[in-house]
Amino acid sequence: MELNENARVDTSQVDDRRGSGGGGGMGIPIPIGGGRGGIVGIIIAVLVALVGGGFGLNAATNGGGSEQGDNTSLEQKCSAEDGLKQLDCRNALYVNSIQAYWRTAMPEAFGEQYRPSKTVFFSQNVSTACGAADSGVGPFYCPADDLVYIDLSFYKLLADQLGAEGEFAQPYVLAHEYGHHVQDLLGTEAQMRRQQQRDPQSANALSVKLELQADCYAGAWAKNATGTADDKGQKIFKSITEQDISQAIDTAEKIGDDAIQQRSGRPVNPDEFTHGSSEQRKQWFTKGFTTGDPKSCDTFGSGA
Ligand SMILES: [Zn+2]
Repeated sequence: MELNENARVDTSQVDDRRGSGGGGGMGIPIPIGGGRGGIVGIIIAVLVALVGGGFGLNAATNGGGSEQGDNTSLEQKCSAEDGLKQLDCRNALYVNSIQAYWRTAMPEAFGEQYRPSKTVFFSQNVSTACGAADSGVGPFYCPADDLVYIDLSFYKLLADQLGAEGEFAQPYVLAHEYGHHVQDLLGTEAQMRRQQQRDPQSANALSVKLELQADCYAGAWAKNATGTADDKGQKIFKSITEQDISQAIDTAEKIGDDAIQQRSGRPVNPDEFTHGSSEQRKQWFTKGFTTGDPKSCDTFGSGA
């Protein structure tokens, strides 16, 4: 994967809350979900977030926009000549690419207008309209404030603990989260929650379908990513190689529920799956990538 060094990073699509007072400053991590047992805790907490429709329980003071970051230093850094050497600037540019894709793909595929959503960079802990969260939960999307949240140190963990290496894992993760935003805009997410309430026994199976669809949407973005451009029309990517795509597939595989259960030393139990097996995640990312068409991501209709 090569980024175009002439592409301009639009930092207005992110909200940098890593600075003082932006979350890390308080030094009081507010744990949510289960134990902090390494990656299992992380994934379980993510599941709690997703299955529970956000963290819900201690919803923060209305709006989540109560906290605002400061993009000044990020903007400075990313507009410098070698800005794209910086992890945060590259991630902001991935967000630009993903949203540029959906701006045209959503009306094309679903006849609906895309509404942009910011990605919040935080460190350690953050307050959201879905409640307070700490880094342990991993990246997530909060439907109540329409924001994607990520502590960028997650990528190190992804590489160190899950062995999911390679830079392309990063845009894959972000594209998956924006997939949830698209599901939110299309009403898929709300529909799924209602279905879960009507039929609690299939709650996990329904969650798997939602997750696999987000993987498939990420694949559709990956297929079309080289066509995305910044606001001046400069291409964002110079190239995305087969190796990048296999890295994304590899990441999808590494974060499959069965792989996670195995790593945690627990017996693999498909009834507990909420994100899908490695094979399923791989399969649906690949489907989105092969077709390049989000309409093909019909995990709900396909018995996935
Ligand atoms: Zn997800």
